[in-house]
Amino acid sequence: MTQPGLLDLALVRLDEAATHLQVDPDVIEKLKYPRETTKVRLMIRMDDGSRKSFLAWRCRYDDTRGPTKGGIRFHPDSNEDEVETLAFWMTFKCAVMNLPYGGGKGAVSVDPRKLSKAELERLSRAYIQAFARIVGPDRDIPAPDVYTNSMIMGWMADEYSQIVGQASPAVITGKPIALGGSVGRGDATARGGYYLVRDLASELGLEGRTRVAVQGFGNAGQYIASLLASDGNTIVAVSDSAGAVYSEDGLDVDLLIKAKAEGKSVVSTAGVRGHREISANELIAVDADLLVPAALESMIHEGNAASIKAKVILELANGPITPEADAILAEKRVTVLPDILANAGGVTVSYFEWVQNKQGYSWTLDEVHDRLRTIMVREGRAIWEIAQEKRVTWRTAAYIHALSRLAAAIEAHGTQPFFAS
Ligand code: NAD
Repeated sequence: MTQPGLLDLALVRLDEAATHLQVDPDVIEKLKYPRETTKVRLMIRMDDGSRKSFLAWRCRYDDTRGPTKGGIRFHPDSNEDEVETLAFWMTFKCAVMNLPYGGGKGAVSVDPRKLSKAELERLSRAYIQAFARIVGPDRDIPAPDVYTNSMIMGWMADEYSQIVGQASPAVITGKPIALGGSVGRGDATARGGYYLVRDLASELGLEGRTRVAVQGFGNAGQYIASLLASDGNTIVAVSDSAGAVYSEDGLDVDLLIKAKAEGKSVVSTAGVRGHREISANELIAVDADLLVPAALESMIHEGNAASIKAKVILELANGPITPEADAILAEKRVTVLPDILANAGGVTVSYFEWVQNKQGYSWTLDEVHDRLRTIMVREGRAIWEIAQEKRVTWRTAAYIHALSRLAAAIEAHGTQPFFAS
């Protein structure tokens, strides 16, 4: 028997949500498979004059609610199953937030750290040349993901504009501000999660000063630690790929961010200001109220979920908790704020960037923050109400919330009963 793939596991959530709704079978049939996945081989000239090829994909999973939206990942382990799964999650994430988008995703199988900057630029432009007929401001809108950034988005937007013969900033989000990027995009993922735990504190039982552990100290991890610390919460533990540090009285977040900016691990701060080195497994189990996974997929699993003491988990990473660990946490009555809600601040501010590009008008930072907060709190509260009413986890409630919006759109396009009547 073949092992279930990542998409097979992700689809379990769809089946589960469907049991709570009266959904036409046509809807499930449509959402079970990606609409289109294109695979190409990109050939680029290397600095030494040789040519090298890289596999690349773009998946448009479902576009019923609008143009597909999703990042482009440059990673040596990228593959078609992962791209399609991430595009499936984007479909649900955009529906959770009620953004007028479907879900998409792209990837190149490459280790970008092995490329020079000029080679990286050629690869980024080659990606857009290959997919120019698939992407577009009203068709499919990429953004950064793992190992891609605003510089790469700038090159890609420029390449697309040259191909179509007109400036088209709305084709890609996460661009440099000088090329039509939005203020507030940098910390949007963490800020969305921060608004959720701050403004729904009473629903989450997190009132008062909170003790927080953060797993992963990159973009999402550093910003969430800073935002929560600035509110008087205590960051007791953080980790990165090299290890973890702990302080009962609270870590010095500025010191940790400085160490990362200098290219060092958080562990390099051990011995300073009461910081003490601990193991990665100890971080999961520290005495904290809130645990924030902000690293990679599947890091909370059957083997470590039972040791978690936190009452609430904010999934800033995509897919950090395996289905087995999810069941253990539900049994322990740990509240998990699921990735399709918790880290949706990033795509929400990407949507703001797209709107600003289409309007040719820039918003202020306060406008971006206010609008982000309004949407996070509105959808977070709606999901909490579904969880209460149906006595399900936040994750199942989030999938129910998204599925009801997707089903309404698919049914409005016409399902079998629609044509029978
Ligand atoms: P990043 O590369 O900036 O940071 C990742 C961090 O995880 C690094 O500090 C790395 O050292 C750490 N890490 C790696 N392996 C680890 C391990 N074994 N133990 C502990 N830490 C480890 O990436 P990011 O942009 O912060 O993204 C983190 C997660 O958030 C990913 O799952 C990503 O898909 C998700 N996410 C990010 C955004 C965004 O806007 N940045 C949006 C949505 C979702």
